[in-house]
Amino acid sequence: MTVEELRSRHVEMLRSRRVVDHLDPAAPGTAETTGSRYYTWHQVATEPVRTRLGRLADVRVRPAAYRPDHLHDLQSTLDALLPEVLHLARSAGWTVTTPVLAGVFPTGTLDGLCVPVPGRGVLVLVNSGLPDLVAAVLKVMTGVLPNYGTPPLLASDQASYALAEALNAYLYGNGAVEARPLPELSGQRLALVGLMLRRATQFVIAHEVGHVLAGHLVNARRWTDPHTPVGVLDAQAVGWSREHEADRIAAMIMLRSLDDLSPRELDVHEPCLVAALLLVLFLHEITDRLADELGLTVPFAGSHPPPVRRIQSLVEHLADRVRTPRALDLAADVATWLEDQVTGVREWFRLVEEVLI
Ligand SMILES: [Zn+2]
Repeated sequence: MTVEELRSRHVEMLRSRRVVDHLDPAAPGTAETTGSRYYTWHQVATEPVRTRLGRLADVRVRPAAYRPDHLHDLQSTLDALLPEVLHLARSAGWTVTTPVLAGVFPTGTLDGLCVPVPGRGVLVLVNSGLPDLVAAVLKVMTGVLPNYGTPPLLASDQASYALAEALNAYLYGNGAVEARPLPELSGQRLALVGLMLRRATQFVIAHEVGHVLAGHLVNARRWTDPHTPVGVLDAQAVGWSREHEADRIAAMIMLRSLDDLSPRELDVHEPCLVAALLLVLFLHEITDRLADELGLTVPFAGSHPPPVRRIQSLVEHLADRVRTPRALDLAADVATWLEDQVTGVREWFRLVEEVLI
């Protein structure tokens, strides 16, 4: 009953902020058009440069509408992911007695936001732009790097534009815009992206569950930010040391997902899990940096320690707990690859600004 009350509160928040009126699935035949998509990997980023720049510019100048069917899909994913987080927490020895609901919301930050609902429980808001960004980055990465399959699905210039489009949508799309959807993956790449996306999103939820478990919300201060995609929004500020603690609790919860694996499976899955957890913070660092260069305000900046500090502290924590020798290697490769991509993304952003002048 109480979770259902949290669900009503969530929809009420979406409605009052004029995001969407409901999260019901679209009736057959009434689904809004999602625009064009790429059907084959050969098509990705091969439109004329002017068309591609126009698409980036459009996101920046035309306010996009939220799509109930898209938000419904994201909400269904969160509804499937949260019970697993709570189950993993229980098996790690923590029982979450407070009712919790993870709800999709355009918060504008890669951190989840805890909204305590007195007498009901805690609503954990997860940015609607987060799953789209993480999924696009993972798809591009597995598509372009030969270690995920040969021949690669994408050339590096295709990858560079696809990443620029995903980051542009995240930074300017108010949690409503997706980059032009990439084709479906198959086989090993599909499995890897699916698993990492799931774990990355769960880490964001688990961090907030960590605040609930550690009792951080009891002494939290209200942190109000006027610069979110939906205007003024409140979050709970608990201080940087408790943010690090929530990261550590989240990591401990997520490491439980490896408990029943054989040593051979662990060799494969542990590096993926570590990379998925850190990917959220890597993207946090990159989006913060790009936002700063573009003169954009990052909502709730300063409420958490800088991503670089969180990465450092989480890596130290994980290094003592992982069970396989190469557990941190994939995360290091992902970080290096992402860092190498920033120059190409910046170049697309420079070109789109020229178009907009
Ligand atoms: Zn936090």
